[in-house]
Amino acid sequence: MENAIYFDNSATTKPCQEAIEAVNSCLNNNWGNPSSVHSLGVNSLLALAEARETVAKSINAKSEDIIFTSCGTESNNLAIIGACLSLKKQGNKIISYKTEHPSVINTLKQLEHFGFEVLFLDTQKNGTACPKTLAENVDNNTILVSCMMVNNEIGSINNIKELAKAVKSKNQKTLFHTDAVQAYKKLPINVNDLGVDLLSASGHKIHAPKGIGFLYKKKGVNLTPLLNGGGQENGLRSGTENMPLICALAASVKAIPDVLATHKKVKDLRDYAKSKLLNNKNIVFNSPENALPYILNISLTGFKAETVLNALSLKNIYVSKGSACAKGHRSHVLTALGMNDNLIDSSIRISFSRFNTKEEIDILANELQEITKKLRRFC
Ligand code: PLP
Repeated sequence: MENAIYFDNSATTKPCQEAIEAVNSCLNNNWGNPSSVHSLGVNSLLALAEARETVAKSINAKSEDIIFTSCGTESNNLAIIGACLSLKKQGNKIISYKTEHPSVINTLKQLEHFGFEVLFLDTQKNGTACPKTLAENVDNNTILVSCMMVNNEIGSINNIKELAKAVKSKNQKTLFHTDAVQAYKKLPINVNDLGVDLLSASGHKIHAPKGIGFLYKKKGVNLTPLLNGGGQENGLRSGTENMPLICALAASVKAIPDVLATHKKVKDLRDYAKSKLLNNKNIVFNSPENALPYILNISLTGFKAETVLNALSLKNIYVSKGSACAKGHRSHVLTALGMNDNLIDSSIRISFSRFNTKEEIDILANELQEITKKLRRFC
């Protein structure tokens, strides 16, 4: 949409030109099946290898550790169900958190029906997981811990390295999975340094199209596949590879050559937004001070989030209410953090990308002031 002011980048991002060109080029020139042995297939196989190498390098992994999937949700399902099915002789306890994304929580609830014991821990007040509490709950029966790197509603950042270390210090055999969907290419990620066994990411949060994600699986970790067939992706995700989107993911990864520089740019935008929004006495900041700058959760106290959202949308400004997946429900994250219902019901998530500008933030801040003056308070 022309002239849209888009602050809903944690829901999805606008595909970048590099990704669009990669899709076009693949569909026009390189549409062979990577499993075919003729030259069209070989060309596709080469493109697949190159894309895998690009993605692997972006998290300091090896190419053979990357499994392409259709999205972050599939990556989380493959990591969690795949690991638990393969480890069920070793134990049946899984630990996770109340503030995880539904693609983790609902997958774990499904496993509960199949006899696994799932412990959903509380986070600390600021939304982060405590390594000590986690370690206290890991025992010989614990096969998997799943803990997100960045929370999608408030942007709190978990210290994954410390959490993985705490888990391994209690039980070396417990696998550690992190959902890095909101962190990938927004924080530097080095899987060896983090000490994780499994890591999920998604393309459409970093300006690739929807329909592509990947799972990092450390060498030696066994997963039971969810999709069986021709044995693509090392037998872990059968189905002919989605080459246009795999190439687009690689292109969007390459389009962010310096994660820290991009992070700084977005932090400047977020800090500017906070300074502008401070002038509005109705605004409370829900994201912790040290949250990922890409996500700023605020409450416009006294005003229903839906009403604010719709008023902004009429002005071609787009934000979200809690998380996009929480449509219609009171946010389970803000509820788990103990926030009162009025704050939760008036909470909106402003999520930035490197393409946002300070001018757009000025317009948003002005519109929020106007809304405060014009709209009727709900309490
Ligand atoms: N995990 C987190 C933390 C997310 O924010 C999301 C999407 O918003 C997902 C998983 C699911 O990713 P996808 O939309 O690619 O399935």
